[in-house]
Amino acid sequence: MTKVHSGGCRCGAVRFSASKAPNFSVYCHCDDCRRANAAPVVAYIGFMADAVSWEKDGYKPFVNGAVRRTFCPECGTPISFSHESGPDRIFIFTAIMDRPEDYPPTAHTFATEQLSWLHLDDDLPRHTTTLLLDFNTGKSP
Ligand SMILES: [Zn+2]
Ligand SMILES: [Zn+2]
Repeated sequence: MTKVHSGGCRCGAVRFSASKAPNFSVYCHCDDCRRANAAPVVAYIGFMADAVSWEKDGYKPFVNGAVRRTFCPECGTPISFSHESGPDRIFIFTAIMDRPEDYPPTAHTFATEQLSWLHLDDDLPRHTTTLLLDFNTGKSP
């Protein structure tokens, strides 16, 4: 049986599923993600955009420079972001997946921006940006 990688916002106005497992899963400590999600750190998973089907695509895009973020206009849940350098890719916040336990992060990105009072007890690689990560593996080449 094919595993379904599904998720959605808090109210159900936005629902999606992916036909394949995500290419990678990371934490992001950057200022932009922190503010956009009002969270000290976020976790997200990356898919090729054409692997994701939107059963309920009522999200609202918000474009800020090179980054396009989407939110549910009904309940405000942050859904995804994409970057103009790779419009064929989409990054979805792990915490809105139906089974977030299935996608443990394998690295930290923008680790130098991590808040000093946030303690994450792991030995995962810590990258200063996302630029060194291979999209297909989530690892440094
Ligand atoms: Zn919603
Ligand atoms: Zn970020």
